[in-house]
Amino acid sequence: MILLGPPGSGKGTQAKRIEKVFHLPHISTGDILREAIDKGTPLGKEAEEYMKRGDLVPDHVVNGIVKERLSKPDCKRGFILDGYPRTVPQAISLEEILKNLSLSLYAVIHLNVSDEEVVRRLTNRRICPKCGAIYNLLIKPPNDDEVCDVCRSKLIRRKDDEEDVIRRRLEVYRRETEPLIKYYEERGLLKNIEADGTVDEIWREISAIVSEALLRDHNSSS
Ligand code: AMP
Repeated sequence: MILLGPPGSGKGTQAKRIEKVFHLPHISTGDILREAIDKGTPLGKEAEEYMKRGDLVPDHVVNGIVKERLSKPDCKRGFILDGYPRTVPQAISLEEILKNLSLSLYAVIHLNVSDEEVVRRLTNRRICPKCGAIYNLLIKPPNDDEVCDVCRSKLIRRKDDEEDVIRRRLEVYRRETEPLIKYYEERGLLKNIEADGTVDEIWREISAIVSEALLRDHNSSS
């Protein structure tokens, strides 16, 4: 399954819940790239400048990451892609990767959110650098001022959550990623969710889709 939507549409938050509740691996290319930057690997060095500006990392780089990750055995029962594909060439590459692994896509969940809501959410987003928990100072604040509820680390703001970089990421999304909505609609895979609501409202719709997918998979294999 793919979660598709602008930055700040809740892809990461919802994918983390899916992972926890349904035990499906959450594959976020953004998380993998940020980890590479933190570790100072060659991949991180290549990606850093693009990410700082809010631009996309070149397709061949992210395609390689996804190919490697999807080949791991834990993806056999299903997986949630968050932030990939982001361009039509990436979607084409994904088809090839899945075909070679005898896997297929069940659905592409499109989280639809307005630009104003994205800016409001991302300027107030804080993340835990240690355990990856995501907070929002307006709608999902931590219990104690800017400290992680789970592991007590000091929360940070992502470098690309500054307003000018957010605007750039939105521009890139509308130009490069939005064409994927039509692409997957034409393939009968798209499921639209209006995602201006709360985390729990969106979760109700997403969890119903994931439950149905797992049930269908179970029935077809038994
Ligand atoms: P995210 O955490 O999904 O918001 O991604 C953060 C940044 O990582 C993006 O703004 C891009 O610079 C880079 N990135 C993540 N996924 C991709 C992708 N599929 N294609 C290109 N760049 C990506």
